[in-house]
Amino acid sequence: MNRLIDVPADHHTALLTEITPTEGRTRQILDPATGEQVGLAPEHTIEDLEAAVARAQAAQPAWAALGHAERSALLLRAADAIDAKAEALAHILTREQGKPLNGPNARFEVGGASGWLRAAATTPLEPEIVFDDGDTHAEVHYRPIGVVGAIGPWNWPQMITVWQIAPALRMGNTVVVKPSEYTPLSVLALVSVINEVLPEGVLNIVVGGREVGAALSGHPAIGKIMFTGSTSTGKAIIRSSADTVKRLTLELGGNDAGIVLPDVDPAAIAEGLFWGAFINTGQTCAALKRLYVHDDIYDEVVEALEKVASSMPMGVGTDEQNVLGPLQNRAQFDIVDRLVEAAKASGARVVLGGEPDREQPGYFYPTTLVADIDNDNALVAEEQFGPALPIIRYSDIDEAVTMANGLDVGLGASVWSGSRERAREVAARIEAGTVWINSHGGVHPMIPFGGAKQSGYGLEFGVEGLKSLGVPQVING
Ligand code: NAD
Repeated sequence: MNRLIDVPADHHTALLTEITPTEGRTRQILDPATGEQVGLAPEHTIEDLEAAVARAQAAQPAWAALGHAERSALLLRAADAIDAKAEALAHILTREQGKPLNGPNARFEVGGASGWLRAAATTPLEPEIVFDDGDTHAEVHYRPIGVVGAIGPWNWPQMITVWQIAPALRMGNTVVVKPSEYTPLSVLALVSVINEVLPEGVLNIVVGGREVGAALSGHPAIGKIMFTGSTSTGKAIIRSSADTVKRLTLELGGNDAGIVLPDVDPAAIAEGLFWGAFINTGQTCAALKRLYVHDDIYDEVVEALEKVASSMPMGVGTDEQNVLGPLQNRAQFDIVDRLVEAAKASGARVVLGGEPDREQPGYFYPTTLVADIDNDNALVAEEQFGPALPIIRYSDIDEAVTMANGLDVGLGASVWSGSRERAREVAARIEAGTVWINSHGGVHPMIPFGGAKQSGYGLEFGVEGLKSLGVPQVING
């Protein structure tokens, strides 16, 4: 059984107190592992949004005028501020989002937030000379867009907020953040820590639901929306931003395939497969969500995966031993539950898990592996976004590639093989923004990341990510 260990109260209570509203409407935020109250979040209105946009507009010219070197220095200090409050930020994240402190979870996320901020602050971006024949000299510069809106999801709330705001700030824009209504405290805390360093009005936050998100994405003073979330909301944002021709970076939903070739060592890849699928208890955009395994090695891979999966402790995230947590909200629990029940009803074989306790106070869904499942089953075709992995058998690589490419999303994918050459040949045939070889889902601040098909458009990270937060201007002459 999981035990709750005593967490020193001052780890996060001071920061929580700092972000607790002293006026206006508030909403209780409950811990998804226990149902206990974590804190109170403000409920901002459209008028609050207008005020935040006005503050951002007022602050933008001076922020842009600081230039790259000074902005970078301030962003590095903001990363130091995150590091100094890392434990408090991680505890708020664990209590609100549910992910454990340990494993590739809350502390890892806070570390990622500070790391990405440093990378955005230090990546060089020089004007590019694109043509010079001695007569014509053409250079491309990247000017600030103005005010950027950042709308985020609830799965990696702090890290994704940094992915959105760090390049925006570095490039001389000011920002209005609209976090998910499920995880506002994690993002309020992060913004509060960063704002210990940044000038007034540069980084603003408005807490609200979809109406506030929609108003932000239609706002005439916003030049660009950085959006991470579901494909259906992405489509709504395209529509609401159309009248003002906003620039958009859309990181949308995925249903990543992994293809295991027959030449692997099952025991050697099992842990990589496990974390590829179950990182953040499956609530990750580019997690492995459908696994295609060659018939010759199918039973061995399923067995090796079951061995690893059954050894990973799930429970309350503040317990240091746990590496898997609850689903973040009831709606997500219900999606996973519905999809696994549909798989069971179809005759698929549940190798592990699949029997949640629906009466418990937390939204824990047990680690679940479903084998001998058809490719057209809903657990395969829909994004489960939780700890339930379908494992599909194939006998011919062309068939596996066709199944991997059979959906209208294409965020990530992976190929697992003893031969990198062979894996690369298969990778080239897969319709996805990133194809990993012998791993799944790893991201790096210098490696561009983005989706194919309806998983979105626009690249984040590295030089490409910085460029996408600027307006390209050609100086010709
Ligand atoms: P969601 O689309 O429900 O919500 C995301 C954000 O959009 C929230 O802040 C929400 O308030 C806001 N929103 C809702 N309606 C809006 C509207 N009409 N206009 C503007 N904003 C609106 O997504 P979610 O459930 O929070 O996140 C899970 C989804 O996000 C999954 O599909 C996952 O794959 C995807 N995701 C993608 C990436 C990526 O990098 N591609 C990363 C993380 C999550």
